[in-house]
Amino acid sequence: MQTAIINARIFDGHTVLGATTVLLDGPLIAAVGGQTPADVEVIDAAGATLLPGLIDAHVHTNAASLALALRFGVTTELEMQGTNTRPNRAGITDDDTVADVRSAGFGITPPGGHPSELFPPGFRPGPPGGSTPPPVMPFSTTPEEAAAFIPRLVETGSDYIKFMVDDGSIEGHPGLPMLDQATLDAGVAAAKRHGMLTVAHALTRDATRMSIGAGIGGLVHLFMDGPHTDEIIARIAASGAFVVPCVVVNASLMGITGAALADDPRVAARLPEDWMATLRSCFGRYPQGRIGDVLASVKALHDAGVDILVGTDASFPLPFLGGLAHGASVHHELQYLVQAGLRPVEALRAATSTPARRFGLTDRGRIAAGLRADLLLVDGDPTTTITDTLNTRAVWRRGNRLHQ
Ligand SMILES: [Zn+2]
Repeated sequence: MQTAIINARIFDGHTVLGATTVLLDGPLIAAVGGQTPADVEVIDAAGATLLPGLIDAHVHTNAASLALALRFGVTTELEMQGTNTRPNRAGITDDDTVADVRSAGFGITPPGGHPSELFPPGFRPGPPGGSTPPPVMPFSTTPEEAAAFIPRLVETGSDYIKFMVDDGSIEGHPGLPMLDQATLDAGVAAAKRHGMLTVAHALTRDATRMSIGAGIGGLVHLFMDGPHTDEIIARIAASGAFVVPCVVVNASLMGITGAALADDPRVAARLPEDWMATLRSCFGRYPQGRIGDVLASVKALHDAGVDILVGTDASFPLPFLGGLAHGASVHHELQYLVQAGLRPVEALRAATSTPARRFGLTDRGRIAAGLRADLLLVDGDPTTTITDTLNTRAVWRRGNRLHQ
């Protein structure tokens, strides 16, 4: 049975269309615009806006978190360190009650390097458990080691290659073991030889320059150790790299909790208690940071033509990783991007068509015939009022409507 969504305002991932009808056929979008055929289920979306399912371009996730994300209209999460590599996600790929996922596998970092400093003494970050065989842990201190790990990560199903470039200064652990330039250069070059997209964790301007210097494909954080300069914006723009600012995690590192978002009844109604407590908490490791600097850097990158992608760094419901929650924080990040000076339509592109294009997800991120029917229907008009993205009326993953 086909489904026709009629009378909708349609944001197709790039712009608001003149058409108001979308026809779904099984897992795919069959048509946009045109006549509504007879004998189809009709959903009258008057007063609502239909969007491509949202994409969170920076998470650490599992099945429960993917289910939470989907409730907020996030139909794809891109994992930036974790176990959801290709051989480990068959159940997720075919389960339309959870968001879909892609994963870097584990990131290249020296022994004892980031993210080990995030966990309290004695805390054992959870298992790579469950996955068989165990994930490749690509600890590298030399160019040869980093290059040698690339084919192993490719073979074990990483969708892209992540590099940690972090001296611990933002997380309150200065002097943390960190990749040197030669090791980073060699790893990125090897990944490119294997045709892989590369991404870097970099929270400072120096780490950003190192990553851009190595030829990184994307930065999955935005530096937060001070204001931008014209020089660093120009270097990022000239490189063609995209940026996933994750303003929400920078804010959390500065001590800004997600309490304001948690107070929104549209959020509270969908979050279980452990995630509410996590959202109301924060990392709180870099109180000297200034959120105004981060927002100004986002605007400068956008104005320089750099692709901005929505990401959150949402991970696990632990207070020391707080200020974030799967799904909910995507909407918070959209609000931050608009606060930074992007138009609502530009912010929405950053959560739909732009991440799909930059991560090679050619089957999603837009509303067009032949693409996956990953869709979010919200009351109101988020193309003018960004907070309307939280007015969820319906979510579809591969044409299956989520019951919530
Ligand atoms: Zn992360």
